[in-house]
Amino acid sequence: MSNRLDWIQAELDALRQSGLYNRIRTLSSPQGAWLIVDGKKVLNFCSNNYLGLANHPRMVQAAKEAIDRYGVGPGAVRSIAGTMDIHLELEQRLAKFKGVESALTFQSGFAANLASLPALVGKEDVIFSDELNHASIIDASRLSGATIIRFSHADPADLQKKIQENLGNYRRGLVVTDGVFSMDGDLAPLDKIHEITEAHNVLLMVDDAHGEGVVGKGGRGIVDHFNLHGKVDIEVGTFSKAFGVVGGAVAGKAAIIDWLRQRGRPFLFSSAATPPDVMACLVAIDLLENSTELVDRLWENAGFFKSEMKRLGFDTGQSATPITPVMLGEAPLAQQFSRELFDAGVFAMSLGYPTVPKGKARIRVMISAAHSREDLEKGLNTFAAIGKKLGVIS
Ligand SMILES: *Cc1c(COP(=O)(O)O)cnc(C)c1O
Repeated sequence: MSNRLDWIQAELDALRQSGLYNRIRTLSSPQGAWLIVDGKKVLNFCSNNYLGLANHPRMVQAAKEAIDRYGVGPGAVRSIAGTMDIHLELEQRLAKFKGVESALTFQSGFAANLASLPALVGKEDVIFSDELNHASIIDASRLSGATIIRFSHADPADLQKKIQENLGNYRRGLVVTDGVFSMDGDLAPLDKIHEITEAHNVLLMVDDAHGEGVVGKGGRGIVDHFNLHGKVDIEVGTFSKAFGVVGGAVAGKAAIIDWLRQRGRPFLFSSAATPPDVMACLVAIDLLENSTELVDRLWENAGFFKSEMKRLGFDTGQSATPITPVMLGEAPLAQQFSRELFDAGVFAMSLGYPTVPKGKARIRVMISAAHSREDLEKGLNTFAAIGKKLGVIS
């Protein structure tokens, strides 16, 4: 008998025993303020569907029309026969929306990072990376072969010091940061980071996955929020969160985009985004360009929920965005809180180590424009009742 899979079973058993085995829940409804999860109707405080676009009638209609016109599959990678006119249209529309020279789309935000970092830096170079950056930045950085130097979270002084101490040993330097940090909802101090990258002549890359469609004027992202147009070399974004579809993008200088068309490996070796996805994204840009109503409602909802949670006595951390962490301390308490919320009809994830530091376990509430005031009140009442029961608030 073969035993070459035994170690996997042992690892899985160890995960189960330590309570770290990830049990994945199943949805049987569209995305929205309410979901059917594991057969139960629950208020949705979990998804990244910030603007409620994942099931928007106009986007659904556009996706159907795309299938009628172009079919379901792209048939090839972008560089061979997979570039359709709608891919180019989406790139032009996105560049215009964001006020950049050029843009390139990918299959996902993860793929956009995997394309960008290895195309821009290599073995002789150095990446300065915020210690809380997303996993896709970490993986892409490793793949590039560059030396990775982590700087303290959102700390320009530490970044400055690390650049001064190390940059001289390398050919090129690149600073990379999330725009909005997904676990705390705080913003990178991009204006201060830009001053430093400018002074040291290193590349600046921001991954704004949670900022696209959320921060900045009408959801134009963190570069717009800090009014840094033309000053950030590489802006990575996603169509999978506020845009409600799936896909990724890089926005920036024309030369960089041109280079990624030649050297971005997920662009060259993984098939193009599908026609219905692309057409739905085009409508998302249309909706954002024509009205700030959804973005405004998102912020209004987030502001209301956060201030009411604070009034109830909850600690909502450092968030400056609709991501609302509810700090609970130890992981078992956060897990129990999340279970009790679910039993009471509210779906909100608990996050513990290693996703967040030890002792900083929390429930992360994702507010959306799709929530009504009544939905938010139901959520607040449920948080209040369970918070009192578990002794988190008095
Ligand atoms: C979610 C996220 C991604 C991945 O985006 P996908 O389009 O889902 O692949 C990349 N970077 C950051 C910072 C993210 O939050």
